[in-house]
Amino acid sequence: MKSPVSLVEVSCNICNSTSEEIISKTGIGNIVRCKKCGLLYRNPRLSDRDEIDKYKHQIYDESYGLIEDKSKKEIFVSILNNLEHYKGKILDIGCADGYFLALARERGWEPYGIEISDFLLRKARESLGSKYVFGVPLKMADFPPNYFDVISMWDVLDHLMDPLGELMEIRRILKKKGLLIIRVRNIAFHILVNKLFKKNLFGIIKKPTIFHLYGFNNKNIKVLLEKANLSKLKIGNSKLTSGDPYSQIEFLGDCSTNFIKRIYYAFSQLISFLSSKSLLISPSIIIYAEKI
Ligand SMILES: [Zn+2]
Repeated sequence: MKSPVSLVEVSCNICNSTSEEIISKTGIGNIVRCKKCGLLYRNPRLSDRDEIDKYKHQIYDESYGLIEDKSKKEIFVSILNNLEHYKGKILDIGCADGYFLALARERGWEPYGIEISDFLLRKARESLGSKYVFGVPLKMADFPPNYFDVISMWDVLDHLMDPLGELMEIRRILKKKGLLIIRVRNIAFHILVNKLFKKNLFGIIKKPTIFHLYGFNNKNIKVLLEKANLSKLKIGNSKLTSGDPYSQIEFLGDCSTNFIKRIYYAFSQLISFLSSKSLLISPSIIIYAEKI
């Protein structure tokens, strides 16, 4: 018989407070909000070892991976085009099948990846070579200090058990004036959509939002990055890609769905402009930070 899942209590990753309010109850722990700093996080949750094991042994749908790669290509290419003056060593944490790094290598970067899923690790190594892709959590890879020109994390930060610790390690291994790029789910959008679709009003979106271990928005991510001593922050809306919940409105077809996403992104950019970047409502945000 399978043993029941054991959960552990955690404190707020930003301010270490244990004062929290429950926002919603889920199958695994609650979603809580820190009363001191406002960070949303899952508590209790799986132990660190169980979290790592979960990703290590997860099998990913290959066709879905290809759709993901295709949908992110536009973002990846435009970002790489703007990074020419940083060119050198690049590390992608949670590099999946290595698609972003393969695009970087084509442009002359020296690519390194971290990927803890055995399945994706194999894919990334086939693409980039085993010397460059590490199948362990970042701290265990033990990179030298001041080593990378650019470090990226695509839709990874909210999966991590200790985002602050990870960012501090990133700062250690970034070169001075090196750049960190993060794309992460915007909890402000997901809370709004969750409220709108809670009763499944239109019967088309069955799982409107996803919450991993943390919920970030443009305000709490700023506090987190500053705490990790990363500077020159730029935070904005990210273009929409494939993935939940949008993959569930398939009956509209790819063209219509992509059209709706582009319109929504344009709308979110307008709101950002009108609010002087204080209101970001795209499903994901993108953040640039430097080590100075
Ligand atoms: Zn807190």
